[in-house]
Amino acid sequence: MRTIAKSSRLDQVCYDIRGPVLEEARRLEESGARILKLNIGNPAPFGFHAPDDIVRDMIENLREADGYSDSRGLHSARRAVVEYYQGRGVEGIGLSSVYLGNGVSEFISIVMHALLEPSDEVLIPAPDYPLWTASAALAGGKPVHYICDEGADWNPDLADMEKKISPNTKAIVLINPNNPTGALYDTQVLLGIAELARRHGLIVFADEIYDRVLFDGNVHRPFAALAPDIPVISMGGISKASFGAGYRAAWMLISGDCSGISSYLEGIDMLCNMRLCANVPGQYAIQASLGTQECIEEATRPGGRLTVQRDLCHSLLNAIPGVSCVKPKGALYCFPRFDAARFSIVDDKEFIRDFLREKKVLLVQGTGFNWPRPDHARIVFLPDRDSLADALNRLASFLSARESATAQKGT
Ligand code: PLP
Repeated sequence: MRTIAKSSRLDQVCYDIRGPVLEEARRLEESGARILKLNIGNPAPFGFHAPDDIVRDMIENLREADGYSDSRGLHSARRAVVEYYQGRGVEGIGLSSVYLGNGVSEFISIVMHALLEPSDEVLIPAPDYPLWTASAALAGGKPVHYICDEGADWNPDLADMEKKISPNTKAIVLINPNNPTGALYDTQVLLGIAELARRHGLIVFADEIYDRVLFDGNVHRPFAALAPDIPVISMGGISKASFGAGYRAAWMLISGDCSGISSYLEGIDMLCNMRLCANVPGQYAIQASLGTQECIEEATRPGGRLTVQRDLCHSLLNAIPGVSCVKPKGALYCFPRFDAARFSIVDDKEFIRDFLREKKVLLVQGTGFNWPRPDHARIVFLPDRDSLADALNRLASFLSARESATAQKGT
C-alpha cells in the first residue's frame, strides 16, 4: 500500500493539551482505571452549565437558525458585541468591526493564515495557550516567544519583548487574563506593550476570552480601550465566562487606526467568507451571554465555587515542599513551579506521564505551553473541592517519593 504521510507543515506544531499523555490516559481508562482529569478548561463536565437565558435564546431561535447567516454574523449578536466593548471604553467601533466565529480557536487560525509569509514573525507569550504558537507555525510564519515573568506575577517582560522585535515582526499576541498562568496584566505593562506596538508598527492580537473570569474584585480593561490608536484585534467568547464551550460561539473586534492594514483586513474578510459563517444556533447565545453575568459572578465571588477551588488548589500546591505557585487573578488554572533538581525532572512530559501512570491524575506539562524549562505544569481548578484535594494529595505523595528516590541516587 502506498504510504501517505501528514503534511510537513505539522512538524512544527505542538498541541499537547490533547496530546500523547491524554492518549495514555485513554488507554488506562480502557483498561479500567479511573483517571482524575485536571487537564482541560471545559467547565460543563465539572457541573458549570450555561445559564438558562442562553439556552432559551438558542432554543427559541433554532427554527431561524437553519440557514447560513451573513459571514460576519447575526446583526443582533454583533450589535451586542459592539455595545459590550463601548461600555468598556472602546471607541470608534461599529457593526462592521465585528465578526462572529466558531470559537476563538477559529479566529486564531484565521488571523494567522491571513497574515503570515514565511519570514514573518509573531511575538507570542511563553507560557502561552499553545494554539497561538501552533497556528502561527501552521500558517507558515515564525512564532517568537517573549517571556512572562513569574517573579512579577507572570506579567510580560517588556525588555524581553522589545529585544525580540525584529524587522520581520508583524504582531504581538497578548493573552489577558492568561491561560495557563492566571495572570491579569498590570495597566502599566499593557501601556508599555501599546507603546512598543506603536513604535514598531505592529498589530496586537488581544485574546481576552477570560475577561469575565476574575477573582478578588479584579477588573479587566480591554487592551483596545488602552490603545485606541493602534490596530488591535480583540477576541472573546462564551466558552469560559458563560460555561458554553460546546456552543462554539465567539467574536472578534477590530479597532484602532487600521489605515495601514486594509489589505490584511481584506484577507481576514476573505477567510471569513470562505468558511461561510459561524454556526448559527451558537450565534444566538452571544447576546444573552453578554447580558447575563450572574453565573460567572456567582462562581467567582468570595465564597463562590470557583474562588474556593482556586484558593484550595493554590494553598495545597504551596504546601508541598519544592512547589510554588503564583496566585491566579483570573481564568481557570494554576501553573505551579516544581524544583526540577529536587524531583529530578529532565523531561516534563515524562514526569507528567509517570504521575499519570502511578497516581491516575492527568495534568499538562509546562513545555506543552511553550514554557522553555521542564519545571511547570498546568492544573485546572474546575473539579470540586474533594476531587482537587484528592488530586493534590496524590501529587504531594508522588513528589515526596520522587524526592526520596532522587536523594538516594545522589548518596
Ligand atoms: N484562547 C485561550 C487563551 C484559551 O484558553 C482557549 C481555550 O481554552 C481558547 C482561546 C479557545 O476558546 P474557544 O472555546 O472560544 O475556541
